[in-house]
Amino acid sequence: MHGLMMDVPLSIPSMIRRARRLYAHREIVSRRPDKSIHRTTYGELISRSARLAKALQRLGVREGVRVATLAWNHWRHVEAYYAIPSIGAVLHTLNLRLHPDDISYIAHHASDQVVLVDKVLWPLWEKCAARVGAKHVIVMTDDGLVPPGTLDYETLLAAEDDTFPFDDVAEDRAAAMCYTSGTTGQPKGVVYSHRSVVLHALGLGMVSSFGLSDRDVVLPVVPMFHVNAWGLPFACAMLGCGQVHPGPHLDAPSLLALFQDERVTLTAGVPTIWMGILAALDAAPGQWDLSHLQTMVVGGSAVPLAMIRGFQERHGLRIVHAWGMTETSPLGTVSQLPPELMDASPEDQYAYRARQGRPSPLVEIRARNETGIVPWDGTTMGELEVRGPWVAASYYQTDGPDDRFTADGWFRTGDIVTIDAGGCITIQDRAKDLVKSGGEWISSVALEGALMGHPDVAEAAVVAVPHAKWDERPLAVVVLREGRTFSEDALKAHLAGQFAKWWIPDAIVAVPSIPRTSAGKFLKTAIREQFAGHYGLTDTAARGSVS
Ligand code: AMP
Repeated sequence: MHGLMMDVPLSIPSMIRRARRLYAHREIVSRRPDKSIHRTTYGELISRSARLAKALQRLGVREGVRVATLAWNHWRHVEAYYAIPSIGAVLHTLNLRLHPDDISYIAHHASDQVVLVDKVLWPLWEKCAARVGAKHVIVMTDDGLVPPGTLDYETLLAAEDDTFPFDDVAEDRAAAMCYTSGTTGQPKGVVYSHRSVVLHALGLGMVSSFGLSDRDVVLPVVPMFHVNAWGLPFACAMLGCGQVHPGPHLDAPSLLALFQDERVTLTAGVPTIWMGILAALDAAPGQWDLSHLQTMVVGGSAVPLAMIRGFQERHGLRIVHAWGMTETSPLGTVSQLPPELMDASPEDQYAYRARQGRPSPLVEIRARNETGIVPWDGTTMGELEVRGPWVAASYYQTDGPDDRFTADGWFRTGDIVTIDAGGCITIQDRAKDLVKSGGEWISSVALEGALMGHPDVAEAAVVAVPHAKWDERPLAVVVLREGRTFSEDALKAHLAGQFAKWWIPDAIVAVPSIPRTSAGKFLKTAIREQFAGHYGLTDTAARGSVS
């Protein structure tokens, strides 16, 4: 019997063929390590991707083989994104911010056979190489000088022609993989399929999410080793967006110059990056022409309301707050104003946009506490569970069943949320970061957002500290804005106006800086350890790890 509709696989090569036909002249711009600018087009880049595909096949890379990258965001990394899945191999992006021990563990666990390394990252790779056992190491550089025993990327490409056809690959094949750093214990691998990557790219094109189209020029600040730069390099190829890549230069002036000079329309990254950008803009208002920049997608940790307001009111720039995870590809929820709030007061609009938003089409949500699935009442907290075609169904080669995946087919996120009647979620905490005081939950995220709304405070993190009477009590650390003086009482009074008395941290401490994870989020484990004895107990009862 014939099928009802054509059985066309949803595969990455089809997106590449489209970009090659329709967008051959669209530009892809990158900043090199020496800060100079490199320019290419989809036409040229895909031709080089074709050569890379053939070179990898010549090296013996077959379907299912893991090919790793250890690289910043730039055009060669994009070439690898398009070539590796197109030969049926698996693009495995290694997180260069991790400790060499973790990188080695991850590359070894994934059995990476080939590794593509930026020459500027060679010193890091050298610390891992012996423990990984890759068959080939390919070094990406402009100067043709590569360490002994490695292959030069450009020499490999020069030896091939670009006749690679980019034929479809079966849609349920592995296309890419990333390891999470977000849970306790060892990092776990999430493997994306061709089908999930294509559907996720379509998801990013929806107006209710990022609204990408061929009129956009996209600068992913989020690294290509963090959830595939949120899927943007794939979505850009499918939808024909221009791409701008910052290379290793993620400081505010370098990014602002790229936004301006390359007329970037959409950019994306974690809040800590935007804190730096906002400070730079505040210090020199009007220095950069950002009139093309329409959307800054911010996620990965909670976006303080004060930041959304600061960009909007002082610089006319729009933040779109989104929530996601490595396990959700990452598009999960996006905070776009619903129609009923279009005429609401700015205050109400900011309050909504500081929440994590409603689920993308094809992503379903629910939350559960000890008594079962929680009502969508905006107040009952529960652990968020999700399901959808770009949500992981398992981790890569772990021992035994994992309790993160429920028997009825949902993924337990580990995030504690409330869901309102309209389906908008508010992240209250990571399960392991919750403060449980006298049996009641306190949201550290809410306290942090309020503290960062105080004019003296640049950054704030709230952690649970063991307490004799209440089991745990909140403690806040804050980094002050330049030129401000610290007053614990003033900050407590500021919180007292917004929260119940028992939510107010017993101590607020000024610190020079807040430690960060490899993804730029606050490293709460380190803060908890540092202040574990602050309320008089010595037992740290250390919970959780980095997220
Ligand atoms: P990762 O897999 O490293 O991207 O981390 C995913 C985790 O980051 C989520 O489970 C959340 O705890 C956190 N996260 C992501 N986006 C947000 C957001 N918009 N607000 C608060 N937390 C977030």
